[in-house]
Amino acid sequence: MPPGILHERVSSALTNWHLDVAESLLADADADPGPAATAGAPLTSLSRAWADTLRAELLVRRLRMAGLTLLGDPIDDATTPVPAEPTADEAATGAELGTRSQTADDAATAIALVRSARAAFDAADDDLQRAAGLARHARIELLSRRVDAAMDEAVEAASLLDPALVASPLLVHTLGALSGVLADLELMPLALDYQRRAHHTALRLAEDEPGPASLALVGDSASRLAALCAEVGEGLLDDGIADAADPHFTQARTLAVETLAGLPADDPHRPTAEVVLGAALVGLGEHDAAVTALQRVVGQIPAEQDRALLASAELALGRALRRQGNGTAADDHLAHALALSTEHGLPRLRRAALRELCTLHADLDDAARALPYLQAYLADELDRVDERRTRWVELFGRRKSLLETERAAGQLRRQAYEDPLTHLPNRRYAEGRLDGLLAAGAAPALAVVDIDHFKSINDAAGHPGGDAVLRAVAQLLVDGVRDTDEVCRWAGDEFVILLPDTTAEQGERAMERIRSSIATNDWSALGVDVPVTISAGIASAARGDDRRTLFAAADGVLYDAKRSGRDRVVRLSGVTQTRAEDGPPEPPRPAAPVFEGELLESDTAPAGDGESPEAPVTVTDVTQQPPVDPTPARPTDILFGDDPRPVPTPRNEEDDAAGGFGRLLVEPVPAPGGPRPMRTGRVVGPAEDAATPDDGAQVAATRSPVTSAGPEVVRGAGRTTEQVLALVREARREHPDRPAVVVGAGAETLVALASEHDAYTTMDHTAMAAAVGPLPEPRGRVAVLCAGSGDAPVAAEVAFVARVTGTEAVRVDDVGGSRLQALLADGSLLADVDCVVVVAGLDAALATTIGGLTEVPVVAVPTSTGQAGGFGGIGALLTMLNSGGAGVVVSGIDNGYAAGVFAARIARR
Ligand code: GH3
Ligand code: MG
Repeated sequence: MPPGILHERVSSALTNWHLDVAESLLADADADPGPAATAGAPLTSLSRAWADTLRAELLVRRLRMAGLTLLGDPIDDATTPVPAEPTADEAATGAELGTRSQTADDAATAIALVRSARAAFDAADDDLQRAAGLARHARIELLSRRVDAAMDEAVEAASLLDPALVASPLLVHTLGALSGVLADLELMPLALDYQRRAHHTALRLAEDEPGPASLALVGDSASRLAALCAEVGEGLLDDGIADAADPHFTQARTLAVETLAGLPADDPHRPTAEVVLGAALVGLGEHDAAVTALQRVVGQIPAEQDRALLASAELALGRALRRQGNGTAADDHLAHALALSTEHGLPRLRRAALRELCTLHADLDDAARALPYLQAYLADELDRVDERRTRWVELFGRRKSLLETERAAGQLRRQAYEDPLTHLPNRRYAEGRLDGLLAAGAAPALAVVDIDHFKSINDAAGHPGGDAVLRAVAQLLVDGVRDTDEVCRWAGDEFVILLPDTTAEQGERAMERIRSSIATNDWSALGVDVPVTISAGIASAARGDDRRTLFAAADGVLYDAKRSGRDRVVRLSGVTQTRAEDGPPEPPRPAAPVFEGELLESDTAPAGDGESPEAPVTVTDVTQQPPVDPTPARPTDILFGDDPRPVPTPRNEEDDAAGGFGRLLVEPVPAPGGPRPMRTGRVVGPAEDAATPDDGAQVAATRSPVTSAGPEVVRGAGRTTEQVLALVREARREHPDRPAVVVGAGAETLVALASEHDAYTTMDHTAMAAAVGPLPEPRGRVAVLCAGSGDAPVAAEVAFVARVTGTEAVRVDDVGGSRLQALLADGSLLADVDCVVVVAGLDAALATTIGGLTEVPVVAVPTSTGQAGGFGGIGALLTMLNSGGAGVVVSGIDNGYAAGVFAARIARR
């Protein structure tokens, strides 16, 4: 709900403390966001931000009605609005807010709403919207008595309101709103400046776009400016500087007269201008005229609709009557002004009314009546002359210009880090960002992308055509990656993509999609009739990598992609290897390479660019290189695939800690009989589906060891939330590429995890388990059969752990007892799964039954929850062991975690 008619209505209801009206208007806006909210994508999140802001203000006002600040502290001073006669609705609200927890909830909700709105405004990248939101938030802060926060937001809003901004109704509103906040902060000269700017902007707008809407805006801003002028004038009179006050009153009168001249007789904005005119006349000493005008208008203002206006009219009238010498009448009006402004939360009006009443009774020599007013006034006055305010005026100017300088510097920085052709971040940015990610211990994947035969594209389409291709490729790259990935132009026809928290495999899949989208894009629209394709190399960072080694790794495999035919994606495994010394010598980049008999670019490649063709290359040429390590290969080294070369001997940990690219040249110590070492760069050609697993020797050679995808487990039982959080942080730091899994945690721990790692957390509340971090792509499928409802938590843990270990898990509940026959008859129960886990306490024999019905491995998990006399699961365990079904293994009691990992490992094979 951006500022518009509905926004205005809600705002006005809020300002007048018609909170139920505001609430129902907001509810209507939710049901029907209206045309303003559907005007475009960016507006959608902004509309939400505006609605959230107004909702937050509603909550804060409700809290104030209940006599509490946003922080839950009681407000016990006289400025708390206490409606003289609460309406039925408001009384009900007070009762509703009676409980402390309800108010705490409301305060938390208000804070959350303001935060999310603030984030949305910041993300909008629209200075005016941000300033408008900030001005409104400053008002909310003031309502909740957070004066410093209000000041900060006002300064920031001011720094965003560049004088060069184009005139618009929103600009007028925002300048006016900021002026109102500054006035409430007692920064009157600044408030006057901003309201003046608002008025000038409205006048400019009316010149550019004449019409009733612009005129209304001019009238409104003029009235506000006039009111401020009169208020500043009264302040100067109070200080005894009548000469300085006069010009302000004169300006107020001129503005009010002009406004009234421009408004039709029945215009709803007339009373506002009439009150201001009356106040100006009082200041100018024209008391009779003022009293006549103000008496008329006081009778016209509906008290329920605009109590603020009524309060200022009563104040001006009381003041005029007092100065006329009509003390009794003045007393009534001033007392009414005091009541209204107190009830309404209008501190400036309240102080003025107190001062007038005090002066009135002092003039009447009635000290007993003057005294309470004086006391109340002084209490407020002390607050007002708080020395902070003097410093604020100074600070305001300094901080604002600091913010503006920063912003200008930001623009320069943007230029320094942006590529002018594609508007992508440039190489300087990419280098800095990569350094930052690596220093922070993140494990990004890096893709280096190069357009194939770009020289020939330039030749065919001309340089401008080449530029258009560069821009279009940039766009396709950006479209193809996640929001968190960053595409940068490295140089010429070369791009890099930073993929935070991504494994090389995931990056490979993404790049393969992009490669295909570029190859199949219709380039004829750009006047390019030669094929446009890209080659990409991907590597993922390992601990200790620096930017250069990671780039060299990705660039190295990009070179492999070029050599092996272009239009393809090559990934380097997590463990880096180099080309074998006995492999092909490094040839110059080929002009017309051939890839395993495919007819490739030879017909499109530019002839005779000085490069010589080379022999076909396949991925098998890219092989493991022994490390530069004096230790001789051990006889027990594991061989991989059909390659008889020994796996390099791992170095010790100190070497590892030294970091750098060199340490990547070795394998980690493989456990005896443990996973096979990985093989290097796997080529994904255009015809190959990246998601399809390889087969034969290639599978054995390229598959990551399952353990590398295995999660780190943290057991919640017996640990405090803090301990679990610390262990998870450590696990994430150690292995950013895999999830940390928490099992057996309490609800509070799960909530704490989710709030610390929000978007990264996957959760299962039945299992009371959570996983934090990137989940591996699922491979294979596990069926988890749960015998009875008492077994459900363990079954949920199995399924959850299997999923986060990297396989699909299908849960089938209540398999035991009489339901088994029906489920088996259905046939789909065990179809297409790689492993079955049977979780049972009472129905322990179920595992053997299932084992007899399927060929896939079965894991039986005994539970302690099945029956009263189950001896803590030992009964079920013994049944499972004793029934000795072939193909069935038995896990520990209630150990869903072990069973889940085991099943996933089987399925992933
Ligand atoms: P390969 O497949 O081996 O990458 O062949 P290629 O022809 O693409 O070779 P290379 O990447 O070395 O060529 C890059 C070319 O990109 C050379 C240069 O003329 C051209 N180029 C560099 N910057 C720009 C630019 O901003 N606009 C245009 N149109 N061309 C550029
Ligand atoms: Mg190129």
